[in-house]
Amino acid sequence: MANNGMEIKLPESGEEQTLVGSLNDIKHVVAVMSGKGGVGKSTVTALLASTLVKSGFKVGILDADITGPSQPRAFGIKSQGLTGSMFGITPILTRSGIKMISTNFMLKEEDDPVIWRGPLLAGAVKQFWEETDWQDLDYLVVDLPPGTGDVPLTVLQSLPVDGLVIVSSPQDLAYMVVKKAVKMATQMKTPILGLIENMSEFICTQCGEALKIFGESQGESVSQKMGIDFLGSLPWDTRLNKLVDEGKVEEYYSAAMAAIVEKITAKTEQ
Ligand code: ADP
Repeated sequence: MANNGMEIKLPESGEEQTLVGSLNDIKHVVAVMSGKGGVGKSTVTALLASTLVKSGFKVGILDADITGPSQPRAFGIKSQGLTGSMFGITPILTRSGIKMISTNFMLKEEDDPVIWRGPLLAGAVKQFWEETDWQDLDYLVVDLPPGTGDVPLTVLQSLPVDGLVIVSSPQDLAYMVVKKAVKMATQMKTPILGLIENMSEFICTQCGEALKIFGESQGESVSQKMGIDFLGSLPWDTRLNKLVDEGKVEEYYSAAMAAIVEKITAKTEQ
C-alpha cells in the first residue's frame, strides 16, 4: 500500500487477495465537510460517531483530514501504525468500539509533516474504504479535509458517500463559504443531509448560562436560503474542548448532538 512511511502487509495476489474487504457490509457513508478549517468539523465528526454508538449503531470513522491528527487525538489513540489480515487492514478500536482508520496512522511520528497531494490522498482514502476489514457497520463517518478546494473534492469523489453534513461557525454563515460547500456537493450530486452550526453560543464556565456572543443564530435562515435542512446548533462548551484535548471525546454527552443524530438517522434509514 502506498504510504508515508509505514508498511501494511496485505496479500498481493492469489485467492487470499479476493478476501480483502469481503466481510464488509457498510449501510451508510456520511461525510462531514466544512467551508474552511477551524470551525469544529473534526470535533463534530467525533461527536457524531460517538453519539451514533450511544444510540446503538455500529460505527466506523475514516479520518481523511490529513492536516491535523484530529480523530486519533480526540479519542486518545496514539499513532501506532496499522496491521492487516487476509480480510484487509485491521481498524483501530476506540474505547466505545468505534472502528477507526486515519491517514495519521500511516505516519511514523504523529507530527510528521504530510505532503500528499490531492490525488495521492484520495488514492489512500479509497484504499482505506475498500481494503479495510470494516465488517458490519451501520455508519461510516468520514472526516473530510477542510475547505472546498481540490483536496476535499477528490477525496469526496473517491468514496460512495450517501449523505453530506456541512459544519459551519456563526461567522462563516455570513459569508460565502457555506454557499460554496453546498455548490460543490450539488455539482457532485452528493445528497446533503443538512447544516450544523457549531459554536453558536458560549456556555459560561461560571454560571452555565448560554451566552449568544454572536447574536441570534443564523443557521436556520441560511439553511433555508440554501435549500438545505438545518440539523441544529452546538454551543461552544469548554468541557468539550477539554475532553477533546484529553482524548476523551466519548465521555461527552450532548443533548443537542443526540437530537441532530436523530434527524440524520431518520433521513438515512428511510
Ligand atoms: P476543524 O476540524 O474544523 O479544523 P476542530 O474540530 O479541530 O476544527 O476544532 C478546533 C478546536 O475547537 C479544537 O480544539 C476543538 O476541541 C475546539 N472545538 C470545536 N468545536 C467546539 C465546541 N462546540 N465547543 C468547544 N470546543 C470546540
